[in-house]
Amino acid sequence: MATPAPVIRGRTFRGAVALSCLTLFSACASGDDSTSTSDTSVAGDAAEVAAHEQARAECLGGSAIDDGSLDIATTVAPITNLAALIVGDAGAKVTGIVPEGTNSHTFEPPPSVAATLESADVVFINGLVLEEPTKDLAVANTQAGTVICELGTAVLPEDQYVFDFSFPKEGGKPNPHLWTDPPHAREYATLIKDVLVARDPAHSAIYEANHDKLVAMIDRLDDAMKSATATLPVEQRKLLTYHDAYAYFAKTYDWTVVGAIQPSSFEEPTPKDIADLIDQVKSENVKAVFGSEVFPSPVLEQIGKEAGVAYIDVLRDDDLPGEPGEPEHSWAGLMRFDYVTMVEALGGDASTLKTVDISVDVEDKAYYPQ
Ligand SMILES: [Zn+2]
Repeated sequence: MATPAPVIRGRTFRGAVALSCLTLFSACASGDDSTSTSDTSVAGDAAEVAAHEQARAECLGGSAIDDGSLDIATTVAPITNLAALIVGDAGAKVTGIVPEGTNSHTFEPPPSVAATLESADVVFINGLVLEEPTKDLAVANTQAGTVICELGTAVLPEDQYVFDFSFPKEGGKPNPHLWTDPPHAREYATLIKDVLVARDPAHSAIYEANHDKLVAMIDRLDDAMKSATATLPVEQRKLLTYHDAYAYFAKTYDWTVVGAIQPSSFEEPTPKDIADLIDQVKSENVKAVFGSEVFPSPVLEQIGKEAGVAYIDVLRDDDLPGEPGEPEHSWAGLMRFDYVTMVEALGGDASTLKTVDISVDVEDKAYYPQ
């Protein structure tokens, strides 16, 4: 049977061919496996707007507000921080939705979140099918004119989607972790700024100035990561993680994700998966396996022990270090922590990362649910 094409807000990633398969499924169900490999089939369909272009148009689609204070809702904490740093003291309110330390992939918003969404002028979500229950609640509860902006869906062309271990193509959900990669986080920052300027032009000078400081800092972190990477021979840049959050990061810095342990169901891997991973760790000379602070895994510990390599259990993908108000409680603090952890565990020199200036001289006034 053909795999249904993944859908974002009622549209398909691959255009009209796949859409007709969804609406007339029986006509496509026999022997048409092309939807999983038919990226070229869309190229000739000039009338179809690419998903990322349509998502971007939706981000920028709202009209300017006139009551002087923008109300912004955000989902995961790294996005909350990027938005808050662009807002600074412009007066807009930024309210996070996903509590830190929760599994954002399976998070079901409590009914109280409906009120946050109802009063929002802009809702920034990651998109790429990460926060569907929150998006559904937003669609049902936002006012007419509220923008629901899917940052990842808007910045990532469909031909750059990564499907991998925990996010297989047949599941229809691409790996959504764009924000762990500085060049993509930079794109998030710029799109957030563009949306805020469009909705609240009275404060555009503040948004522009804060954005410039933020992207300069992201570029510093990017440079520091490149320098740290250069201290690791290519054959040592191997990531075996529990939570599969570094796919785009790995492409950017020429690292290899040799595997991720967490199945797409977010349940525990099977004994056979574990045995295969132990073999892989041994044969690829992986130096360390990385667990996640949000997803404690006895299995990973077992893999590390049996393969005789270090087991590091502190990586995070959307839970900021420290407490709200502390300098490390930021997207950059989170990324620096992860990069230092990975580089050092694999035998590299992380000094450029430890000394890079990640301050932006802007106060983060967002609300972070804990
Ligand atoms: Zn994640």
